[in-house]
Amino acid sequence: MFESFNPTPRVLMGPGPSNVSPRVLGALARPTVGHLDPQFIGLMDEIKQLLQYAFCTKNEFTIALSAPGSAGMEACIVNLLEPNDKVIVCINGVFGNRLKESVERVGAQAIVVEDKWGTPVSVEKVADTLAAHPDAKALAFVHAETSTGTRSDAKSLCQLAKQYDVLTIVDAVTSLGGSELRVDEWGIDAIYSGSQKCLSCVPGISPVSFSDKAVETLKQRKTKVPSWFLDQSLVMDYWSGEGKRSYHHTAPVNSLYALHESLVILKQEGLEQAWQRHTQLHKTLHEGLSHLGINFLVDEAYRLPQLNSVIIPNHVNDAEVRATLLNKYNLEIGAGLGQLAGKTWRIGLMGTTAQEQNIALLLAALKDVLR
Ligand SMILES: *Cc1c(COP(=O)(O)O)cnc(C)c1O
Repeated sequence: MFESFNPTPRVLMGPGPSNVSPRVLGALARPTVGHLDPQFIGLMDEIKQLLQYAFCTKNEFTIALSAPGSAGMEACIVNLLEPNDKVIVCINGVFGNRLKESVERVGAQAIVVEDKWGTPVSVEKVADTLAAHPDAKALAFVHAETSTGTRSDAKSLCQLAKQYDVLTIVDAVTSLGGSELRVDEWGIDAIYSGSQKCLSCVPGISPVSFSDKAVETLKQRKTKVPSWFLDQSLVMDYWSGEGKRSYHHTAPVNSLYALHESLVILKQEGLEQAWQRHTQLHKTLHEGLSHLGINFLVDEAYRLPQLNSVIIPNHVNDAEVRATLLNKYNLEIGAGLGQLAGKTWRIGLMGTTAQEQNIALLLAALKDVLR
């Protein structure tokens, strides 16, 4: 016989999803209404405003895509790029590589700026590349590389792009809500994020925001957006238009209740306070890990507070430690990804998970397991 699925609760200290608070789970359980119900349209409007707050933007086109962060990435690429466009793509980890893949799949040309994993995107290299390719249409990079725990200088990179009138496409899946991010001030044209990292909502939604320039680029396209579902000119009419929303697809109604609640929680705490909390707790974690003799992969200046890549000590069995943490302590940490597989652990302190008590649990559990 089949029975209901009742997972054992875990402390989620990996690269996402992070722990979803009872408030957000409670919102998820409220009655489903129609996606064109006036009540729901009111909720969508509030989500737009709350996302504008979280992104620090006034962008009119700021929405929650009904799909995970990867779809947010594709949405930016397929809407803003056309075949043969030149795009400078920065790769310093797994997610930069995905940007390149995505750029090439629309028939655009990726000009790659590569940096060592665990180091930030080199502003100097990007400056040289822009000077060599002033005809590039866009610059795409990952703000917070979750595969390595590295923060790149989004502000300087966007300033450079502005000098060449180049669009900026930024992956903020892990940075939104966890570290300083200012879309308007930094001049970001297209940005995408995810619900399950520092917003601590359920997975499957991607907040996206386009500047007026990005929207204009979309309107001026010579070719149709190659994906019907991700065509944001169609999605725009679903997320806006006074009283005349047109059906595009059925939004994940209850997941949007959850997103709304997670954004209300962020607003109540205050965005800058949330950034501060992540930084503070990262310091606590760092101190505790140094007592255990565990070192970080990334230089202090570029470390992400919400994603801590640490080097697995010699003679330690990676998989066994993670399995013991999970089975004995109900604690999940992330494995290394790509070329860092088997070399690093990724300890997430994202959103709701970023709490003193979780750090204490992890440190005690690690001490026990490594002994
Ligand atoms: C998690 C993540 C993604 C992908 O998001 P999904 O919701 O898993 O599709 C993209 N970029 C970065 C930097 C991420 O951390």
